Amino acid sequence: MVKIAIVGGGFSGLCHAWFMKKTLPDAGITVFEASNFGGQIATTRHNDCLLEPGPDAYFDRTGLFLQMVAELGITDRLRTEEKKSAKRFVLKEGYLVKAPQSPWGVIFTPLLFFPEKIRLVLALNKRFSVWPTISLFDFVRNVLGASAAEYLASPFARGIYGSEAEDLEFSSLFPQLFAKMQSATKLRHAVKEYLRERREFWQKELGISARPGIYNFSEGLITLVDALKQVLEQRGVHLVKDKIIRISRDNSGAYLLASKSKTYGNFGRVIFCCGAPDAAAIFRELDKELSQQLSELKHSPMNVIYTAWDAKDFSASGYGFLVPRREQYPILGTIFASNVFSGRAPENVFLTKTMVSGDSELFTEEELASLVVESLSRIFRRKLQPLWSRVFRHRPGIPRYAPGYGEWKQQIADRLAQHPGLFLRGWAFTGIGLADQAESAYIFAKSFVP
Ligand SMILES: Cc1cc2nc3c(=O)[nH]c(=O)nc-3n(C[C@H](O)[C@H](O)[C@H](O)COP(=O)(O)OP(=O)(O)OC[C@H]3O[C@@H](n4cnc5c(N)ncnc54)[C@H](O)[C@@H]3O)c2cc1C
Repeated sequence: MVKIAIVGGGFSGLCHAWFMKKTLPDAGITVFEASNFGGQIATTRHNDCLLEPGPDAYFDRTGLFLQMVAELGITDRLRTEEKKSAKRFVLKEGYLVKAPQSPWGVIFTPLLFFPEKIRLVLALNKRFSVWPTISLFDFVRNVLGASAAEYLASPFARGIYGSEAEDLEFSSLFPQLFAKMQSATKLRHAVKEYLRERREFWQKELGISARPGIYNFSEGLITLVDALKQVLEQRGVHLVKDKIIRISRDNSGAYLLASKSKTYGNFGRVIFCCGAPDAAAIFRELDKELSQQLSELKHSPMNVIYTAWDAKDFSASGYGFLVPRREQYPILGTIFASNVFSGRAPENVFLTKTMVSGDSELFTEEELASLVVESLSRIFRRKLQPLWSRVFRHRPGIPRYAPGYGEWKQQIADRLAQHPGLFLRGWAFTGIGLADQAESAYIFAKSFVP
């Protein structure tokens, strides 16, 4: 049976190990992790509050997550989004405006001007042939109008990708929808077809018809990581704490992975889930050109600031809000963390999580914390005083699917074809969210040829 190595024990690496072990129970699988298993998932505690500097929620759109949670035996620790967090807001002209959460919501939202709502309905009955490198911003502006670009695309891009909508490639964010749009006679048909295919695929695979939901655990997302680690080890997967620095091939063609102190050998397949810059470093000797190409992926650095407030002085309802670029605030958005899942903070504390673009590299932690206090004071129109703040910096940050990303990914795939048995996965390649990692690992494992 083939020996498989997975480099990177973040959520993607653990999901690949999980689904590969299910499809190939006899395979010898080793996961190498340089730092902490879980990668971006890094739940921690501070002053009785539960903080998630990286991801803080899992959006399950297929049912795969709930199935995984059940198999891992952690359903009793699952938490669903609290009712009080139902509303989401977007900042418009200095005020928080309720964001649309359904197609009908788009018709009624005050975020768009009336003529644009008519344009939106008309657009659904038109055919659009868009070029592959069009930015998210231009796509939305061309199809739905300027205010949709400013008040829907911009906050979406900033909230999910930590980037401006101009800096994201539509075809890479929504590859299947883009493909459907190439052949469909109306936008409406492309959207319908895309949603139907995805729903039917997962229904058939999992044998359930899932209702989308937002989840976490009583003790944070690290619960999922710990459970995965435990069950993987029980099933014979080797979890090794070591940083891989080099890949080479032996005389038989098998791959060798070297760390500073040790060489691990005889791997028939190596799956890289470690991020593009780290993969670039590992490939430096085996394939200089591939290494160079990998190092060219752009990232959006990100700062996360947790702030605790005395709930008597300040609290708000809803999930939180996003800030479109046009509003010219230094923050990208704020999640009202203690509203979303129970048990995140003591009763008398209102806990917020704010994202500030990492372009603010020159700011100290204190300055970043004050940017949040000043911004929230402006938005809520009163002088706010926090109990404490904690700053987390993400470097290099979120992989940026910038215009040209699709071409870059194709060039990487062409080059990688020269190295049979090697695969590049994880959020630099397979989508930006946790659900993307799990779903793509599932599909990868199903089609894997040992
Ligand atoms: C601030 C922030 C908020 C987010 N919020 C959400 C959210 O709420 N919901 C959501 O769905 N997604 C969210 N995401 C995205 C989510 O975090 C990613 O989709 C996911 O964590 C990516 O997993 P990964 O395994 O691909 O990468 P990582 O988690 O980065 O894992 C890569 C792993 O590889 C290891 N590694 C690197 N080099 C080596 C080496 N040489 N040898 C061995 N190991 C190595 C690293 O130590 C790391 O553990 C957020 C991301 C950020 C930054």
